[in-house]
Amino acid sequence: MMKSLFLKREHFQSLINALKSSGYKVIGPKEEHGTIVYKNLNFTEELPQGVQDEQSPGKYRLKKINNGRWFSWSNGPQAIKPNLFSPREFIWRAIRDEKNKLQFTQIQPEITPTAIIGVRACDLAALKLQDQHFIEGEYIDQYYEARRKKLFIIGVNCTHSADTCFCASTGDGPEASSGYDILLTELDTGFIISSANEQAKNITDQLELVAANNEQLAEARQQIQHAATQQKRTLPGRNLRDMLFSRLDHPQWEDLTKRCLACGNCTAVCPTCFCHSEHDETPLNGNDVTHYRQWSSCFTQEHSYMHGLVIRAETKLQYRQWLTHKLGSWHDQYGRAGCVGCGRCITWCPAGIDITEEAHAICGEDYCGD
Ligand code: SF4
Ligand code: SF4
Repeated sequence: MMKSLFLKREHFQSLINALKSSGYKVIGPKEEHGTIVYKNLNFTEELPQGVQDEQSPGKYRLKKINNGRWFSWSNGPQAIKPNLFSPREFIWRAIRDEKNKLQFTQIQPEITPTAIIGVRACDLAALKLQDQHFIEGEYIDQYYEARRKKLFIIGVNCTHSADTCFCASTGDGPEASSGYDILLTELDTGFIISSANEQAKNITDQLELVAANNEQLAEARQQIQHAATQQKRTLPGRNLRDMLFSRLDHPQWEDLTKRCLACGNCTAVCPTCFCHSEHDETPLNGNDVTHYRQWSSCFTQEHSYMHGLVIRAETKLQYRQWLTHKLGSWHDQYGRAGCVGCGRCITWCPAGIDITEEAHAICGEDYCGD
């Protein structure tokens, strides 16, 4: 049986140092503009100490709590999605040469091996879905693949759930079961630590670790269970495909039109959304063009533009597309729903629209799906 190990808090810097000396750029959580964001991380002093998030529909606040922990928050607006699926990706450039011919060149991004500290269970589940979409299907996205191959992940189990979290309902958290290289559970004095592969072991071998004792293991377990029982939101079931598609005329879609601003915030913060649109940047000289793709959303008009017609011009149709894909037809494409219960779309919706409430309203309060 694998021995459980413990990293004392005062030795956490050595984890950052080991990652850096192994050639990784280290990214970790930082407090910025009143939220938690993933940024370059060099020192433990930069981590958000004694900070917890209060989240509810349309609201996010950080508050100080009396502990010396660095991972007491549950999540911020950013998942790790932008580190793999770039919000804007330059694809190719064409230049008119002196013979008036167009020369095309593919733009290759510079990719640095990157280690991300503090990835939550929901975001690991989302990463698995993004892998399915970008690199496990018939067409490989070489930009995503190049970054994914150079990614090293330090997961951290959640010991606190925000009011908007429902990963226990989707089966994706609060404990991480796979997808990480190193996994941490935070206690007051340090971290239970485990490595998932040889590459990770090469890192943890450089750290001063001691055996975790039974009290520490029991406390870690109890904290994760507490985070699960804190969650009050649920989806009506894990497979709502047939139910949603049988209710395409439900009056709730019309009601959503009165509340939804079609701003697309929900899709921008969602760790599983992957739609993009393609554009050209053309200077006025007419001699070159740069082609790029950028994140898009079911809530834009161009998203459903076909042959001179916007198919889903009304907000209710855009929201319906989002929900029926995310919780319905995603099953046909990827074998499960596209929601990992992170709750970001609830928190960052300026109208406070709650995906769990909408799903319950459409399915019926008593419905309890698969
Ligand atoms: S749909 Fe909402 S709760 Fe589900 S993964 Fe996306 S942002 Fe998170
Ligand atoms: S559901 Fe909320 S976040 Fe999403 S488009 Fe509508 S108003 Fe914006």
